[in-house]
Amino acid sequence: MAGEAQDDCLFCKIVGGHIPATIVRETETTVAFRDINPQAPTHVLVIPRVHYANAADLAAAEPAIAADVLREAKAVADDEKLDSHRVIFNTGAGAGQTVFHAHAHVLGGRGMHWPPG
Ligand code: AMP
Ligand code: ZN
Repeated sequence: MAGEAQDDCLFCKIVGGHIPATIVRETETTVAFRDINPQAPTHVLVIPRVHYANAADLAAAEPAIAADVLREAKAVADDEKLDSHRVIFNTGAGAGQTVFHAHAHVLGGRGMHWPPG
């Protein structure tokens, strides 16, 4: 059921402490940890503790937790002393989503181009 931990979900395993991660922030509703394959000097993922396949599903079902994810993305940027940063929600395989547990990418520490690839 949506919201419940999924046995086969990598990020549920990180939330549950079954897979190690470099955690940088935690709240009652979110966990933030460094991406294992960083695409910028700062590349942190902010995830809700509850399982939803993507950010759109999370926002529809749990808007307050979706707001928590955004608030934590800003807190990561502040912690990392970033002048500017980019928050990305890849939503769907065609957009590059590979882990189907909602997550925000927080990227910073280098120049960013637009449009993204
Ligand atoms: P996405 O492609 O938007 O679904 O993003 C998934 C992200 O999770 C990628 O940037 C991966 O590098 C990252 N990732 C995969 N496995 C791990 C892990 N065990 N710890 C931290 N980040 C991970
Ligand atoms: Zn999950």
